[in-house]
Amino acid sequence: MQFGINMLSGCLAAIFVLTVMVIIAWRKYAVLKKEFNRSSLAHSHVQALVDSIPDLTWVKDKESRFLMVNRQFSRVFNSTVEEIIGKTDADLSGIETARQYLADDMLVINQGEPLHLEERITGPGGVESWAETVKVPVLDKNGEVVGTAGIARDISERKRVEKHIQHMAHHDALTGLPNRVLLEIMVKRNLLQHDPARHNLTLIFVDLDNFKMINDTISHKIGDLVLKQLAERLCHAVRAKDIVARIGGDEFIIALPYTGLDQANTLLQSIEACLAQPVKVENLNFDVSCSMGLAVYPENGEDCWTLVQNADLAMYHAKLCGKNRSVIFSQQLADKSIQNMTLDSRIIDALEKREFSLAYQPKVDAQTGAIVGLEALMRWHDAVSNEWIMPGDFIPAAERSGFILKLGDWLMEEVVVQLAKWRKQGIEIPVAMNISAVQIHQNSIGQKLKGYLEDYQVPGHLLELELTESVMIENSDHIISRLEEIKALGVSISIDDFGTGYSNLAYLARFPLSSLKIDRVFVDNIQSHHNHFQVANAIMDLAKCMNLRVVAEGIETKEELSVLLGMCVDELQGFFFDKPLSLECLMPLLNSRQSYLDRFPLQKRSAQR
Ligand code: C2E
Ligand code: CA
Ligand code: CA
Repeated sequence: MQFGINMLSGCLAAIFVLTVMVIIAWRKYAVLKKEFNRSSLAHSHVQALVDSIPDLTWVKDKESRFLMVNRQFSRVFNSTVEEIIGKTDADLSGIETARQYLADDMLVINQGEPLHLEERITGPGGVESWAETVKVPVLDKNGEVVGTAGIARDISERKRVEKHIQHMAHHDALTGLPNRVLLEIMVKRNLLQHDPARHNLTLIFVDLDNFKMINDTISHKIGDLVLKQLAERLCHAVRAKDIVARIGGDEFIIALPYTGLDQANTLLQSIEACLAQPVKVENLNFDVSCSMGLAVYPENGEDCWTLVQNADLAMYHAKLCGKNRSVIFSQQLADKSIQNMTLDSRIIDALEKREFSLAYQPKVDAQTGAIVGLEALMRWHDAVSNEWIMPGDFIPAAERSGFILKLGDWLMEEVVVQLAKWRKQGIEIPVAMNISAVQIHQNSIGQKLKGYLEDYQVPGHLLELELTESVMIENSDHIISRLEEIKALGVSISIDDFGTGYSNLAYLARFPLSSLKIDRVFVDNIQSHHNHFQVANAIMDLAKCMNLRVVAEGIETKEELSVLLGMCVDELQGFFFDKPLSLECLMPLLNSRQSYLDRFPLQKRSAQR
């Protein structure tokens, strides 16, 4: 019985213990299940969150195996998230790239610090892109690094824009050639590599002649296309190691490393030859020439801009000598340009100090020998040196500095004032004044003339403008309309120094001209120079066809006069009659109505009386 009781109590105890164990196990299971649910819920929350990030996002363990990546990541690698988990970079990006990623991961793991980098990424199929990446260490509860997490943003577009900006900052947009900035960098780099004892660098400043004409008379678009073609030609004309840069509108620099003047001369010829071919753009042919200046390192400058400046100065001299040529820099050239600069500043002073005056040279009627006009010529008495400076010495400097505009205004007013004075004295005689091309480019020249003529009440027909052919080169509509405006005032316009300038005569028909002045060179010894005679004759024929008067200037001898009188010349001018005269010397001639007929050859005299 006792045994039976003991058995029962033992069984009950066992059932109790078992029940308790089952309950405990059940509760444990319930907790675990809850935990499991909670963590997988958390995981999917995190996954949803990282999937919403447009950048590549990942978590790796310490061995750089992916524990988690977002959808964007898997998309870039053409995989699913599940396929990537457990893989390494070597599986996805190849050994080389993986090695770099691993090195970065190790840095983060070892230093326990975030890492920011911009990196070039080679994606599947070798597609390259740029990423801005942040890698951070992942820590456990105890602060131990257990892996890394990272986020990478695609910055390929930004990089492309940056690269483009960088290119633009260093290149000329039209021709793609290096610009000033890159030129300086390249020349500097070259000079640094130089052993000055053994090597030279020649720098050529190339400036196109009359390029402005294409821009002004045709169009800027055509001008651009011409420049592009020329840029390509220049690149072909030089060697691979040479540098061709565009530093301004029609200004190019060619730097020839390891090249002295001898070798540069050979290259110069090939540059000239490449430019000599007409440029064809949209069925138009352009003959383009250029003026070039050369400077050599180290003699003419030890840095890029000194060389450019000196080559520019030499180029400028090439222009002054008639363009389409090259000039080598020398110290004499530099000295001359300093002289010109001093002259410029002296001109400004001289105008204020009233050091300019006018001399008048008579123009003689070829029929009657009477004075039919005067040419006003500027004179400068420099008070400092007490010397007379002739226009040939200061007009070019004034034209270069732009000061000719002030000087020209002074001239216009001075002439009109003189005409008004003479009119009051009963003398009406036309006066011609020389006008520089720079003045004609002023929009206001017509208005200015009109203003002076009205202010001093002088009729326009008493005024004549003498322009050189260079103005006519720019056969542009705005020059023509400006001249029309001047002609409408009654002012006549003539071409000075005719025969020496521009050879395209088409402009004669378009411009509102009244006379041509045959250049002095053709009058010089016309009796013995058959060629001079022929040219003068041709000019006269041409003028007659175009209904223009002809003036022969620079007549110094009876022999020259004699030949000219046998030709179709209308007016005569030259030292043979009178030199340019001061007012005091001129007035008696005007008052006495001076005739030079007695200086004409006898037979002409009687025929013409
Ligand atoms: P240009 O317009 O051809 O003027 C004629 C020049 O030839 C004058 O020189 C005159 O003195 C000179 N001349 C006249 N007859 C003879 C001659 O028989 N033999 C020789 N050998 N020479 C003669 P000038 O006064 O020295 O002027 C030189 C140039 O300066 C002028 O050439 C003209 O282009 C320019 N110039 C003169 N005055 C002015 C002005 O007020 N404004 C502008 N823009 N240019 C001027
Ligand atoms: Ca003249
Ligand atoms: Ca002349």
